[in-house]
Amino acid sequence: MELWKKSLKEISELIDAKEIKPSEVVEAFIKRTEEVEPKINSYITFLGEKALEDAKRKDEELVKKENRGKLFGIPVAIKDNIITKDIKTTCASKILENFVPPYNATVIEKLESEDFILTGKTNLDEFAMGSSTENSAFFTTKNPWDLERVPGGSSGGSAAVVSAGLVPVALGSDTGGSIRQPASFCGVVGFKPTYGRVSRYGLVAFASSLDQIGTFSRTVEDTAILMNVISGKDDKDSTSSDREVPDFTQFIGKDIKGIRIGIPKEFFPETLDKEIKEIILNSAKQLEKDGAELVEISLPTSKYSIEAYYIIAPSEASSNLARYDGVRYGYRAEDYKDLEEMYSKTRDRGFGAEVKRRIMLGTYALSSGYYDAYYLKAQKVRTLIYLEFMDAFKKVDLILTPTTPDVAFKIGEKTDNPIEMYLSDIFTVSVNMAGLPAISVPAGFKNSLPVGLQLIGKPFDEGTVLQVADRFEKINNYNFKFPNL
Ligand code: GLN
Repeated sequence: MELWKKSLKEISELIDAKEIKPSEVVEAFIKRTEEVEPKINSYITFLGEKALEDAKRKDEELVKKENRGKLFGIPVAIKDNIITKDIKTTCASKILENFVPPYNATVIEKLESEDFILTGKTNLDEFAMGSSTENSAFFTTKNPWDLERVPGGSSGGSAAVVSAGLVPVALGSDTGGSIRQPASFCGVVGFKPTYGRVSRYGLVAFASSLDQIGTFSRTVEDTAILMNVISGKDDKDSTSSDREVPDFTQFIGKDIKGIRIGIPKEFFPETLDKEIKEIILNSAKQLEKDGAELVEISLPTSKYSIEAYYIIAPSEASSNLARYDGVRYGYRAEDYKDLEEMYSKTRDRGFGAEVKRRIMLGTYALSSGYYDAYYLKAQKVRTLIYLEFMDAFKKVDLILTPTTPDVAFKIGEKTDNPIEMYLSDIFTVSVNMAGLPAISVPAGFKNSLPVGLQLIGKPFDEGTVLQVADRFEKINNYNFKFPNL
């Protein structure tokens, strides 16, 4: 099998056995990137040369160094809203087009201390606001399975690089579904950890109470390996948790006998696409055959999750994005007569339409006359969603749903209709509202396009999520199907 088709684990084993050198690994992925990247446009910044230099240094270390990191020589791509020292971090926005951060996000520091190789920064919807990468100020990434379709979003670039075999693993961020939805559309594994499990220090803030860094990979085991590296308390992020981090790989290869899986009826409405419903319910049956127990549950408030999310997320965004004023970061308009005009021209030209829409929605929802009616109400709905999940978790260990209501849509299909676009996250946002861990794993195909299965866990019980996802992957093995590019 070609090197670019291998998992992180397999590549690591080959390097450890000194059968291949880091530079050979990087060369293989660069070659693949040169072949297919022009078709899919997944990187904003590709660092091929730098990655190769880095790999050559590691070739020498392979001979000399005893204690090599867990990611020694592994190429990893990073979503371009995660801060990288001395490397442009744009958030796919004109306002940060030339922003070069002077420091690293905590996750980057952690990857570096385990000897990873950074391949580049991937495309996204501007400031992670969107579900298709069409809101990127620069270009739209294409779905590797069908170049006329979106890869999903907002972490579309990171999903596409893993799907197309440009890297074995990547990092993304998930505020309302931005890892799981593109993972589902691109046929890869996408994991959003519990809120607080992974430090957000250096993740450019969109909606701070919902944002979470997570992973893309081809196998669940690779997710576990990456999670071991990036998890844990960080003094630089007061919302990061000091809960003990288990060795996540211990959940790989375990049986799932007796695990109770909840099927929430609200996530399988009459209107749900028939084929998606069949694929997901069949997946549940496979797990039942393998020893899990299926339990019907109800999460009635989840039907308000999109409405509440689109008050809370824009409110937090309007506050977080106030910092882009032309003074401290990035772009500044050149022609202005006073400070006021400098602010408004900078923001008018620097932000795209969707970001402006969110700032306006959020500012309105937070204004003194409307705060109680919108923001406060949405927060109450959020609490109810959380309580309902906690109630369900008294009866079940895990919750199973489709990741998305349908497969990847065509580029341009939903750009004129923001509400339609927002609805593609209908099955993912409640997870962020409740701060839970959840994964999307490949579960089959509809019209040759990937379909994702979502498994949602209890807070800080990433282990059970990974355990069942890993079993599911081993029963089906959709994970090593590659798009024809
Ligand atoms: N699509 C959702 C939004 O536009 C979620 C984005 C995300 O998770 N970053 O807000």
